[in-house]
Amino acid sequence: MTSIYIHIPFCERICFYCDFPKKVGKKSEITTYLQALRQEIAMYDVPNTVDTLYLGGGTPSILNDEQFEIINDIVNKFTFSKNYEFTIECNPEHITPDKLKWFKKLGVNRISLGVQTFNDKLLRLLNRNHNKTMVIDAVNLLKKEGFTNISIDLMFAIPFQTMDMVIDDVYNLLSLDVPHVSYYSLILEENTVFNRWINEGKITLLDNELEALMYEEIISTLKKHYHHYEISNFAYSNYESKHNQIYWTNEHYYGFGMGASGYLDNVRYYNEDRVNKYLQKVNNSELPIMHQDELTKDEIIKEALLLGLRLIDGVNVKELNERYQIDVVKYFQQEFSELLQQGLIEVGENIKLTHKGLFYGNEVFSYFI
Ligand code: SF4
Repeated sequence: MTSIYIHIPFCERICFYCDFPKKVGKKSEITTYLQALRQEIAMYDVPNTVDTLYLGGGTPSILNDEQFEIINDIVNKFTFSKNYEFTIECNPEHITPDKLKWFKKLGVNRISLGVQTFNDKLLRLLNRNHNKTMVIDAVNLLKKEGFTNISIDLMFAIPFQTMDMVIDDVYNLLSLDVPHVSYYSLILEENTVFNRWINEGKITLLDNELEALMYEEIISTLKKHYHHYEISNFAYSNYESKHNQIYWTNEHYYGFGMGASGYLDNVRYYNEDRVNKYLQKVNNSELPIMHQDELTKDEIIKEALLLGLRLIDGVNVKELNERYQIDVVKYFQQEFSELLQQGLIEVGENIKLTHKGLFYGNEVFSYFI
């Protein structure tokens, strides 16, 4: 499998909870960045046939015609395999007939829509630029134009959000009948407006108990309609994200662009996370890598568990043993025994989180960091 992540770090405005590598960019800066991105990709020996391509951000859907032309030039260097998946992250307000023409020309066959909530008041609190009506219009237009593989990103545990609001979001989601949902709890990150507001006492986070009740409500309702295949991801049968499964199964992938990371030949590399530094290195014909870690066998095995346990089916013991030439149950005897005692994992043919473990994922993962 050849998988590529490309980062487009520009947004029209900054959401108050967001700490992704992103910035508000001028038109000329975005174009210059894309030209550098093309140069960076040319420095790698990427196999010609690509299985999954993910254009993430930032907000790739803000690009204009001239900028999509550069993306087209980049994408045209590759051939897509028969069952390829090419996802683009979009904001609902950018879904217009003209943009969809570009997506078709590029070969995009999966749309990931950043919705977060259908509640207009909460959307304003998050500093999003869309409202519920725009989400419905976007999904309808996508379907009309033949984009059936749509994923919606939602968020819960937003300050001021009540259980009724979550139930309402789930109801709105189900009425859109989209085949994939990513549903994450809000995480408070440093260097965000939300963090400052918390420190100033302007907003407060929801308590853990309510957050857990919300997650339980989301899982139990969505499971009636979707395959719950990862802690935060739900899909109709055969619509599980192929690209993200590359991450969760600890496979190699290329990462291009400012702030992107990749994993090649057991080396995890992290690109410069400032546009200026990124451009400087690429313009000097240097790979724009900020730092990289060559993983030891022990680290690789731990990562396989750390990532694989996010999947509801967990990791298959036999496959893991064969892949890494170990006896994984013996290797992590101590860790598994403690986690079993706490009722957080099950160890059988597969090692996986229990229902309780879904709520204490970070605690489980901390054993493998
Ligand atoms: S959440 Fe998405 S749209 Fe909002 S600032 Fe972050 S990257 Fe940009």
